[in-house]
Amino acid sequence: MITLLQAGPAAYDTGSAFANFTSSDAFFLIIAIAVIGFIVQARLQSVFAKYSKVGTPDGMTGAEIAEKMLRDNNIRNVRITHVAGHLTDHFDPRTMTVNLSDAVYSSRSIAAAAVACHECGHAVQHAQGYAPLQLRSQLVPIVSFSSRFAVWIIIGGLILMASTQNEIVCWIGIGMIAMSAVFSLVTLPVEYNASNRALEWLETSRTLQGEQLAGARVALRWAARTYLVAALSAITTVLYYITIVTGNRRQN
Ligand SMILES: [Zn+2]
Repeated sequence: MITLLQAGPAAYDTGSAFANFTSSDAFFLIIAIAVIGFIVQARLQSVFAKYSKVGTPDGMTGAEIAEKMLRDNNIRNVRITHVAGHLTDHFDPRTMTVNLSDAVYSSRSIAAAAVACHECGHAVQHAQGYAPLQLRSQLVPIVSFSSRFAVWIIIGGLILMASTQNEIVCWIGIGMIAMSAVFSLVTLPVEYNASNRALEWLETSRTLQGEQLAGARVALRWAARTYLVAALSAITTVLYYITIVTGNRRQN
């Protein structure tokens, strides 16, 4: 794709565009996505800084709003706890806790309301057996194993390929790296859905209205974009390793 962009229309004449896609093109793409990621992260920070200064209408804290959302969703077995750090907010299904960070737990801002409700969105997903969340949980041990060893297996595979032309070990390694991409793709519906549940409840419960609700929507939209960039990055990484293997094939 990037070869086409660089070479212009003439590249169409050379036949298959993908055949011309090299590991340096893929590497360029990884860098480009990293830059986009940096911009999205900076935007997210500034959006959150902005809405951290806008108070909730009835002065409720992130923790109080989270409690209310869980109650309204008939969830009684999940506790709201305070966790140290910045952006460390998460729902933990093992301990059945919604963990809210310093900036969210006791904050009375619409940014805190948005994050607190997003995490409760995950708790609601868990309670309702939301399939992508279940799949994501099942992938965790597989991905943590495969991401640790994949690169070493590919390196071993390339050494084997140089002497025997056998690519099978390389492709096993690429398959293992691809698990991280699958994980980041499964993460997308989980995150978007949690945000949608959060916004829906904030609206129907009239916790936020008008411009405040719009602010929460903007904040959660930018948070979701970081997951989108992460998914693109993971896919490009797989592409990068594929081009390394096919590039070595051409050299042999
Ligand atoms: Zn989330």
